[in-house]
Amino acid sequence: AKYVYDFTEGNRHLKDLLGGKGANLAEMTNLGLPVPPGFTITTEACRHYLTEGSEPDGLEQEVAEHLEALEARMGRSLGQADDPLLVSVRSGAKFSMPGMMETVLNIGLNDESVHGLAKQAGGNERFAWDSYRRLIQMFGKTVLGIDGDRFEHALDAVKGGRQDTDLDAGELQRLVDTFKGIVCEETGKDFPTDPREQMRLAVMAVFDSWNAPRAILYRRQERIPADLGTAVNIVAMVFGNVGSDSGTGVAFTRDPGSGQQGIYGDYLQNAQGEDVVAGIRNTIPLEELERIDKRSYDELLAIMETLENHYKDLCDIEFTIERGKLWMLQTRVGKRTAAAAFRIATQLVDQGLITLDEAVTRVTGDQLAQLMFPRFDGGADKHKIAKGMNASPGAAVGKAVFSSARAVELSEQGEDVILVRRETNPDDLAGMIAARGILTSRGGKTSHAAVVARGMGKTCVCGAEELEVDTRQGRFTAPGGVVVSEGDVISIDGTSGEIYLGEVPVVDSAVVEYFEGAQPDDDLVKAVDRLMSHADQARRLGVRANADTPEDAARARRFGAQGIGLCRTEHMFLGERRQLVEDLVLATTDEERQAALDALEPLQKSDFIGIFQAMDGDPVTIRLIDPPLHEFLPDIVELSVKDATDEATKKDHKLLAAVKRLHEQNPMLGLRGVRLGLVIPGLFTMQVRAIAQAAKEVPGARPEIMIPLVAAVQELESVREEATKILAEVGVEALIGTMIEVPRAALTASQIAEAAEFFSFGTNDLTQMAWGFSRDDVEASFFSRYLDLGIFGVSPFETLDREGVGRLVEIAVQEGRSARPDLHLGICGEHGGDPDSIHFCHDVGLDYVSCSPFRIPVARLEAGRAAL
Ligand code: PEP
Ligand code: MG
Repeated sequence: AKYVYDFTEGNRHLKDLLGGKGANLAEMTNLGLPVPPGFTITTEACRHYLTEGSEPDGLEQEVAEHLEALEARMGRSLGQADDPLLVSVRSGAKFSMPGMMETVLNIGLNDESVHGLAKQAGGNERFAWDSYRRLIQMFGKTVLGIDGDRFEHALDAVKGGRQDTDLDAGELQRLVDTFKGIVCEETGKDFPTDPREQMRLAVMAVFDSWNAPRAILYRRQERIPADLGTAVNIVAMVFGNVGSDSGTGVAFTRDPGSGQQGIYGDYLQNAQGEDVVAGIRNTIPLEELERIDKRSYDELLAIMETLENHYKDLCDIEFTIERGKLWMLQTRVGKRTAAAAFRIATQLVDQGLITLDEAVTRVTGDQLAQLMFPRFDGGADKHKIAKGMNASPGAAVGKAVFSSARAVELSEQGEDVILVRRETNPDDLAGMIAARGILTSRGGKTSHAAVVARGMGKTCVCGAEELEVDTRQGRFTAPGGVVVSEGDVISIDGTSGEIYLGEVPVVDSAVVEYFEGAQPDDDLVKAVDRLMSHADQARRLGVRANADTPEDAARARRFGAQGIGLCRTEHMFLGERRQLVEDLVLATTDEERQAALDALEPLQKSDFIGIFQAMDGDPVTIRLIDPPLHEFLPDIVELSVKDATDEATKKDHKLLAAVKRLHEQNPMLGLRGVRLGLVIPGLFTMQVRAIAQAAKEVPGARPEIMIPLVAAVQELESVREEATKILAEVGVEALIGTMIEVPRAALTASQIAEAAEFFSFGTNDLTQMAWGFSRDDVEASFFSRYLDLGIFGVSPFETLDREGVGRLVEIAVQEGRSARPDLHLGICGEHGGDPDSIHFCHDVGLDYVSCSPFRIPVARLEAGRAAL
C-alpha cells in the first residue's frame, strides 16, 4: 500500500484516504494557490496503527522519503541548526471534527535551531523563542499528555495581566526553560530535541487523538462512523507570529449564518493559528485587514472567489500571512446554518454555478426541520439584558448553568438549561449537547462554541461581551447590575443574538406558516418554496401522514400529505369512551358484548367521517385496533388499592378480576393486533362497518382497511373474509391490506400478498421483533452503552437498520410483488420520517412513506433528494 501522498498527488475526491484537510490542501495546491508544501499520511495508516497497535510496515520509510523531498525543495532540513525547516503535524479526518483532534506546530525546534529560526526571521529573537515555547506547550499537552493548565498557569504568571505579544525575547526564553522543567517533572524525561523524533511522536499522537474521549463523543453526536481514522498532514511551517506584518485568520466566502454574500471572517495580528480559536486575544473583523495589508487582502478575496467558483459552494478557509506573504492553510466546503443552506443553494442556482437538481441535494431534511423550530414572540414583553453575536439560530429558554457537568446533571433531571460560559472548549461538549442553548461572553462567530453549535443545530449566542461571566461563583452580571445566578431562567435568541431575563414565549416559524398556506414573502421562505417544489417534482415516493384526528389530517394535507398512511384507531377509545371498552371487556354474554359494540359503532363512524372529510378524496389507511385491551382498563395497582376500601363498587371488583385475567408477561407479544380481531367476536366487524358507513356518507372517500400484527396468511384471510362481506353489505369498496411488522410476515410475504392489496411496513414493531429489543425500554436503559461500544452508530428505532430489518423489508417487497405485481407498498413506522430511512425506502422501491404531520415537509424533501 501507499501510505503517503504529496500535496501535488492528491485531490479533493480522496477524502476517504487523505481526510478532508489533506484532500483539499492537495486540491488547492493543484489549483496553483499558495499552499505551503507538504504531504499527507493516509487514514489507512492510522487505521492500521489503531487496530494493530503499531505503524504499518513501510510507513517510516515512505515518510522519510517524503520528508527528504520536502527538505530538498525547501533547501533546508528539518530542525537544521543554522537554518531550520519546521513543520506542523495536523490531524484531518474525512469529516471535519472541529478542535476534537490534535495538531502540533513548530516541530523541529530545539536549543540550537531556535537560533537558526531567529536568524531566518532577520534576527527576530522574540519570534523564535515564542515559537519554541509554543512547541513545548503544544507537544507537552498533546503528545506527552501533560495537563495544559500547567503551561497556561506558567504563561499567565509571566504575563502578569499583559497580552502574550507584550512578552519580550528574554521572558520567552525563560518561559521555555520553565516549560522544559514542567516536561521533565511530569514525564521524568527531557523534552525530546531530535527533530525527527519529535515528528514521529507527533504523528502517533495525532493517530491516538482519533480515540480521545471528546472525539468519540463528537462522532456519536454527529453520527460519524467510529472506524474511519484520521489522516495526518505534515506541512512546512509558515509563521503568523513573526511580527505585526504577520498574522492568521479564518474566513468564509459568504456568511455561514445567513447565507448573504460579503466579507466574513476574523483576523489576528502577530499570532499562530490556535490563538484565533482559543480566544486568547480578541480578533478583528476581516475587513480591517484591508487597512493593514491591502495586497494580501486583495489576494485573499481573489482566492476566495476562485474557491467558490471551483467548489461551487460556500467555502471556509484558514490562512496565515507571514511578513506580507499570504498562505492558505486549509479550505473546505463550510458548515452553515439551515437558513444559509437554503439561501446559498438557490443563490448558486441564480449565479449559474449549480442546477436546481444539485441545489435540492445541497439541503437536508434535518435543516428543513430546524427551520420549522419556533422562534420568540416578537410582540411579547421582554426584558432584554444584553446582546451578543447571533451564532446559531433558534429560540432557547432554560435555567442558566455555568459548567458542562451541571448542564448534564440538570438536563438528566428533565430541566431545560442554557449553558453559560466565557468561552467553550472541546471539553464542554457533553454540556453543549445537554443544553437547549449556549451563551458565551467571548469569541466570535468562528469560536468553538459557534462552530460546534451550528453543526449541532443548537441555538447559540456568543461573544456577549457586556456580560461578566463568573463560572466559579455560578453567575453572570449584565449591564445595569442585573445578576443571573445558576437556576435563573433566561431566554436566548440565536437568530438576533439577544438575551432576555425570564421566559419569553415562542411562536411558529415563518417556514411553518408558509407550509400552513401563507404566501412566501421573505427570501428564506422563497428559497424553501423553490427547493420544495423541485423536490416534489423529482420524487418518486409518495408522502402520507400518520394522523388519527381530523385536525392532524387537515394539517398533514396542508403540509403536502397525499393521504393517510396510518390512522391508529385505538386513540379513539380513550377518554369517555374508555367506559364502553370496559363494558366490552367485562361482558359475559353475547348480548352484553354486542351492546357495548353497538354503543361504540356510531362514535367510530363519526370519527371516520371527520377524517374522510379532512382528506377530501385522498386515501385513508385505517388500522383496526392494535394494542392489548387491558391498556384501556384502569391501572391494576389503583384497582387493588380501591378494592381494599369500602368505596369499591361491584364494577371495580369485576374490573380487577378482568385485569388480573388479562394480565400478560409480555403484552407486546400477547393478545393484540389481528389476534384481538380473531379472539373477540364482533370487534373488528364493528370497526369495518363504521368505516364502510362513514365512507358511504362522504363522497369520494377512499378507505383502506389495514390489519395489524399479522404473522400468517390464515389470520389475514379470516379477517378479510368477514370484512369483504360487510363492505358488500354496505355497498362500499375499500382496499384491504396488512401491516408487515412481524418477521414471519416478511418471510412469508408471497403467501400474505395473496390476501393483501397493500403492505405497510410497521418498522417499530418489526425492529422490536427483529432485534428482540423492547421498543418501550431499551433506548433509555442500555442503548447509550451500545452506542459507546459502536454496536450501532444510531438507534435502530430512529434510523432503519438496513442490514437486518431492511433485509426483511427487501424480502417482503420482492416476494410480495412477485405474488401480486400491483401490490401497493408503504411504511408507517417512525422511520417514515427519518431522512436516512426515507432514502432506504426509495432504494428498495416502496410506493410511499408515512410519517407524523410535522415531518411531512422533511419527507417530501428527502424523497426528492433520494430520487436525484
Ligand atoms: C409499527 O409497529 O411500526 C407501527 C406503525 O405500529 P405501532 O407503532 O402503532 O405499533
Ligand atoms: Mg406496530
